This record gives sequence, C-alpha cells and structure tokens, in this order.
Amino acid sequence: MMKEVKNKKEKISIIVPCYNEEEMIPIFYEEIKKIIEKMNTLDFEILFIDDGSKDKTLNVIKEIVKKDNRIRFISFSRNFGKEAGMFAGLENATGDFVGVMDVDLQDPPEMLIEMYNTLKNEDYDCVALHSPEHKGYSFFRKLFTNMFYKLIAKISSTEQIPGARDFRLMKRKMVDAIISMKEYNRYSKGIFSFVGFKTKWIKYEAPERRAGTTKWSFWKLFKYALEGILGFSTTPLVISAFIGMIFCLIALVAIIIIIIVKTLVWGDPVGGWPSLACIIIFTSGTQLLFLGVIGMYLSKTYLEVKERPIYIIRETEEDIKKEN
Ligand code: UDP
Ligand code: MG
Repeated sequence: MMKEVKNKKEKISIIVPCYNEEEMIPIFYEEIKKIIEKMNTLDFEILFIDDGSKDKTLNVIKEIVKKDNRIRFISFSRNFGKEAGMFAGLENATGDFVGVMDVDLQDPPEMLIEMYNTLKNEDYDCVALHSPEHKGYSFFRKLFTNMFYKLIAKISSTEQIPGARDFRLMKRKMVDAIISMKEYNRYSKGIFSFVGFKTKWIKYEAPERRAGTTKWSFWKLFKYALEGILGFSTTPLVISAFIGMIFCLIALVAIIIIIIVKTLVWGDPVGGWPSLACIIIFTSGTQLLFLGVIGMYLSKTYLEVKERPIYIIRETEEDIKKEN
C-alpha cells in the first residue's frame, strides 16, 4: 500500500481566480504551460474560477478546457469576489500541493519551481510571496496600504505580513485547515496566517499587470481593509469601551469640581450654554461613532448567522464533458 502511494506522481493544483480577464487567459495559459513542461515529474491541474465575468472569459476558458484535460474550471452564477473564488478553488482542488495565483502574471509562474522545491526540500508547509515596496501603486494607494498594515499589526493578534500577496503554494494539510474555516466574511490573508503552519516568505517585486485593468477600486480596497480589521481584531470594541470609560471619569470629576465645589464653596452657579452645547455635541458624536463600531461587528455577525453560501456554481468542466 505504502509503495503504491510513493510511486504515484504528485499533483499540483493551481487556482486562478478570473474576473473579466478574456485578454489575459490565453497569455497566462501559454506561460503556465512552459512551467508545466519544466516540472514534468509532476501532474498538474489548473483550476480557473470564472467569477461571474461579463466578458468572454468563460468562452475563452472553455476553448482551453476542450483541448487540454489538465485544465478545469468553475464558473459562478454571478460575481462573488476574489475571496470566494479562492475558497471555491481550495475546496475543489485535488492536488497534493495547491497554489493560488492571479491571472494577470503579476504572480510570475516561474516562481512555482522554487516554491515547490522549497516545500520538497525544506521543512515548510507553505511558500508565500510578498512585495512590500508596492511599486506601481498610486501615491494614495501606497499611503493607505502602508497605514493599513501598520494598524492591523498593532490591533490584531494574527500576524499580518506587509505587502503579502495571495500568491502561494501550500501542502494539502494546510489547504484542509483553510477550508475547515467556513466563515462568510473571508479575509484570506488573515485566514492563511490564522491556521498557522510553517510559511516561508519570499520577497519579490510584483511586475505590472500584463494586460487588462485592475479590478480594485479605492472603495473596494477600503472595504477589504475593513474586512481584515473586523475579521481579525476586536480592538476597536475595546477602544470604544475604554474611551467611554475615560469620558465617564471626566464627567465625574467635572461634576464634583463644577457643580459641587464651585457652587457650594464659592457660591458660583454654573453658567454658559455654549460650552454645554459643545460638550453635548462631542459626547453624542462619540456615542454615535462607537454605536457604528458595534454596528459593524453586528452586521458581520448577522451575515455569519445566516450561513449563506460563499459561492454558487453555474457550470464546471464536468458539464462540458457531459455535452460531448
Ligand atoms: N478577481 C476576481 N474577482 C473579482 C476581482 C478580481 O476573481 O471580483 C481576480 C482577477 O481576475 C485577478 C485577481 O483577482 O486574477 C487579482 O485582481 P487584480 O489584478 O485586478 O488586482 P490587483 O493586482 O490590482 O490587486
Ligand atoms: Mg493584479
């Protein structure tokens, strides 16, 4: 039995989330083919996730699937986001090693060779890439990205590596741990780190996207950052409670000094409504702010409790095989 397992070729699954990437898929396919040839001692499975694309992405994938049986795909019923795409890929990949990479070649396929060799020869469960320099980002994206990593490092107990990309190759046991985390609000960078295991970080310079355009607007990135904070830290709640406590203390001291001491000792009654108005606006503002903080956690809890599916499949390569 043991011998049989040993003789079997090991398989690498590569998950490639795609949203409106009709231009990039053929280019990516040519590049990954070269790597598959170089790593010919292994079996490969390329799993494209069509994340409800509105262009010809799905048709382009189907053309490739028809002529190459190493290619599989999952097509969603609508756009569920890259996080859902990665999760669907991890759940459906069958390899002993599973990799995640972008289709735009910002995650160079040739790095897979080094990543695989590291997993084979060194005592690691995962090899991941990060590019902390953020070259090619606009000034504001760079500024906010850096601020986000500094903030989350302070408030989250889950380690977050600055500039971590989703590009990684993992052993099966780590993949199984990740798919055991079924949370609806998925922030993979946190989940990868939460499950632990030994990860080797390789620093590299992410090249520019080869074709097409980025799918991330500033607002989408902002929401993604919030996802990371709300999903992996409860510090904002602690801060709210702490500031509330300080306000109570200040109020108590003010009551003692202004109302009791000033009035009784000096016979100087309280006056001046402008200062009072300012205080009321300030405190009610902070109350609303922190109510908002609680609300954000509550809304996340609400979505988790509903247990909606993370993704819905419309079609896979199995459907094409049935047609033929
Ligand atoms: N992507 C996706 N669903 C989305 C948005 C993006 O599957 O809703 C994919 C996209 O096709 C690409 C990867 O996620 O393969 C990274 O997206 P992009 O290159 O636009 O992001 P950036 O590199 O600018 O961060
Ligand atoms: Mg990209």
